[in-house]
Amino acid sequence: MSRSAELFSAAQKHIPGGVNSPVRAFRSVGGTPIFIERAQGAYLYDVDGKAYIDYVGSWGPMITGHADPEILAAVRERLDYGLSYGAPTALETHMADLLCELVPSMEMVRMVNSGTEATMSALRLARGYTKRDKIVKFEGCYHGHSDSLLVKAGSGALTFGEPNSPGVPADLAQHTLTLSFNDSQQVKDCFARLGDQIAAVIVEPVAGNMNCIPPEAEFLQTLREVCDTSGSLLIFDEVMTGFRVALGGAQAHYGITPDLTTLGKIVGGGLPVGAFGGKAEVMRHISPLGPVYQAGTLSGNPLAMAAGLALLNKIRQPGFHQQLSNKTEQLCQGLQTRAQAAGVPFLTQNVGAMFGLFFTDAPQVTSFDEATQCHLESFNRFFHLMLDAGVYLAPSAYEAGFISSAHTETEIQATLQAAEQAFKQL
Ligand code: PMP
Repeated sequence: MSRSAELFSAAQKHIPGGVNSPVRAFRSVGGTPIFIERAQGAYLYDVDGKAYIDYVGSWGPMITGHADPEILAAVRERLDYGLSYGAPTALETHMADLLCELVPSMEMVRMVNSGTEATMSALRLARGYTKRDKIVKFEGCYHGHSDSLLVKAGSGALTFGEPNSPGVPADLAQHTLTLSFNDSQQVKDCFARLGDQIAAVIVEPVAGNMNCIPPEAEFLQTLREVCDTSGSLLIFDEVMTGFRVALGGAQAHYGITPDLTTLGKIVGGGLPVGAFGGKAEVMRHISPLGPVYQAGTLSGNPLAMAAGLALLNKIRQPGFHQQLSNKTEQLCQGLQTRAQAAGVPFLTQNVGAMFGLFFTDAPQVTSFDEATQCHLESFNRFFHLMLDAGVYLAPSAYEAGFISSAHTETEIQATLQAAEQAFKQL
């Protein structure tokens, strides 16, 4: 029995499913999750001493690789000053200033502790500001696990086929309207009927929780237009895309300005952080300036701010995102060539340094329905063949993949070599 298997067995005694977040359990791909001992650069090392080239990157934050010496140094430097004060620090102002400089639409920002908190709070703000209850989300988009947003959600909720979680009151879910991603006409029809009741549209501008699905040309523009016409707020959930598809996120990449933006992952450099922000006129409705309540004992935690600031300052260097994007293209094209050579129906899609792998003969995948029609069994076999060969992909066919600046030519070539063998064995 491997050490990972032993630890997984022990974990299940007191932790539901042995994990603290469902996708980690490998339920979708089958088998035993690997338990991690440490990580460095592009590599994870498991408790059995095996190394893996990592394309999960803690689900996004580790964009400069694991245990980045500059981030660790920034955290170490703060460590001796104490861990948390529950009172303001200058670090928080540095972070707010930097976020408002980097993300084009942000005039004010509030720090929280996770992506879930960021989207939950942004929604409450949108509802409080507009004095409306209904929200629009898109099928297969995941925005964390708050009640209003766990309706036809992606990620683990999709993997387990439980899109509507028990425990979410029907009274609340009825205020969440779920439309099809990339269906602009459906959006227009919905707003023609209900526009004056809709507080906000929340969207992953590049969907990353039902694999990786870019927005079609007019989709985000349509969202902007219907929100403008009906006085609803447009919320870009950039928890995943923020600082990844471009320095200024998907809003900079596509040139669409949301009213509110939610952030997470990279903004904390690997420590638990989220943020939401946007137009000052809207943000002024948040407590203590306004009546919409939102708070957090550990929000703006000094260690988390130090890690996030160090990471953001590192990745704002000119050329960083272009290089990462080029690397992602190289990986995706390399995979596609090798699948084709092996006669395996296979497609990759990427926006910047965020990518998706699809076992399908479709020329593109643009919606939740198309994503769920891909061949799940092929993905699962591919996943395990790659894992055996020392490549750690997201353990679900419905998650985006992430690359880091620590992935060099050596890791990309090793990944492509492993994939060549895996495709042949499918
Ligand atoms: N929004 C998006 C787009 C996400 O991808 C995620 C998590 N992967 C969340 C929100 C929730 O973030 P967290 O897991 O930090 O609560």
